[in-house]
Amino acid sequence: MSAIIKPDEADDLLGRELRGELPDERGRFGPFGGRYVPETLVPAFDRLEAGVHEHLHEPSFQAEYRRELREWVGRPTALTHAPRLSERWGADVWLKREDLAHTGAHKINNAIGQALLARRLGARRVIAETGAGQHGVASAAACARVGLPCTVYMGAVDIERQAPNVDRMRRLGAEVVAVTAGDATLRAAIDEALRVWVSDPDGIYYILGSAVGAHPYPYLVRELHRVIGEEAREQMQRQAGGLPDAAFACVGGGSNAIGLFYPMLNDDTELIGVEAGGTGSGLGQNAATLATGTPGVLQGTYTIILQDGDGQVQETHSISAGLDYSGVGPEHALLQSVGRVRYISATDDEALAALEELCEFEGILTALETSHAFSAARDWARENPGKRLLIGNSGRGDKDMPTLTKFPAKVRSHAGA
Ligand SMILES: *Cc1c(COP(=O)(O)O)cnc(C)c1O
Repeated sequence: MSAIIKPDEADDLLGRELRGELPDERGRFGPFGGRYVPETLVPAFDRLEAGVHEHLHEPSFQAEYRRELREWVGRPTALTHAPRLSERWGADVWLKREDLAHTGAHKINNAIGQALLARRLGARRVIAETGAGQHGVASAAACARVGLPCTVYMGAVDIERQAPNVDRMRRLGAEVVAVTAGDATLRAAIDEALRVWVSDPDGIYYILGSAVGAHPYPYLVRELHRVIGEEAREQMQRQAGGLPDAAFACVGGGSNAIGLFYPMLNDDTELIGVEAGGTGSGLGQNAATLATGTPGVLQGTYTIILQDGDGQVQETHSISAGLDYSGVGPEHALLQSVGRVRYISATDDEALAALEELCEFEGILTALETSHAFSAARDWARENPGKRLLIGNSGRGDKDMPTLTKFPAKVRSHAGA
């Protein structure tokens, strides 16, 4: 949709992305990404960038990270065939089971990777932000694992809404700080974490939770999640007899999606990201950033965002807290602009229906975020019969029980069976 890339530039940029040349040395994915931060934050980002450069692909760091993924996170996560869904949808359906990773979602891949990096860089303590609390829980667990104190900034409104996760973080040793500024939700929590980080960039490491924000975070987070797609490709070839015709992932900030998609960019697989369509197409009713947004700067990166005509960032709505963000990672903005990944949305109701179908027919209670990807995959399967599908099952749905209790389960009797 974005008109800021001309057609001839698009081919060139896609080529560079496929060759693994992006982001460039300024942290840009074509026109997107980069680093738009106040002067006071520059030293902290410079230091982090140098640290990522020095350690991330260094063999002893990779060995340590891979060992933690294997022994503590529980990787590789399973690739699961879904025979009953396959029959219903008229497709061959496979699930990449990030719900089976430690703490119940993909987020732990990033949290443990950054916690290990924090220790390498000699940080005395770690800070993190969280919205729904899932990244806060993953960060608290990862910091306990590597032995660093962890402080999680969380909007006061979210602390009310996500009480069980606040308790979980505290039990895992984290300090949880309520942020009452601004909208008192995720955006305010990120701003507060950045403010604390500049006060001591040498002593503090900031674990950002998705593939968003200023360079080097979108790159760093992608590199820590690409294991999802690397494993899935290998497992599809071994278990399913070949790569998928199409792969689906839900998109909030875009970390699980970029992790699944990035290793598949050079394949013939059609890649489809699914955003939160909420309750409707009006501003404020959804979080379908790529489907309906426009280019702008949000929290240090140039990307597609939800804003009004005056550039005011809009509030979002989604039934799933993890998709409720007014921006999206800059690499997704590029992948949409050059036509390699298609981004669509599923509504709250469609996600709920998909969640119930997956429970009933495969015995998996998936996260509300993930359910958006299932809904879109089902629609695609019906239009493209007989194809092989891969769905990134980003997390488990136990955390969503407080929301789900508002939609009572069917009461059944099996006595006559
Ligand atoms: C946080 C979360 C998401 C959304 O975050 P991304 O960065 O877009 O991946 C999706 N699924 C689950 C289960 C989550 O916890």
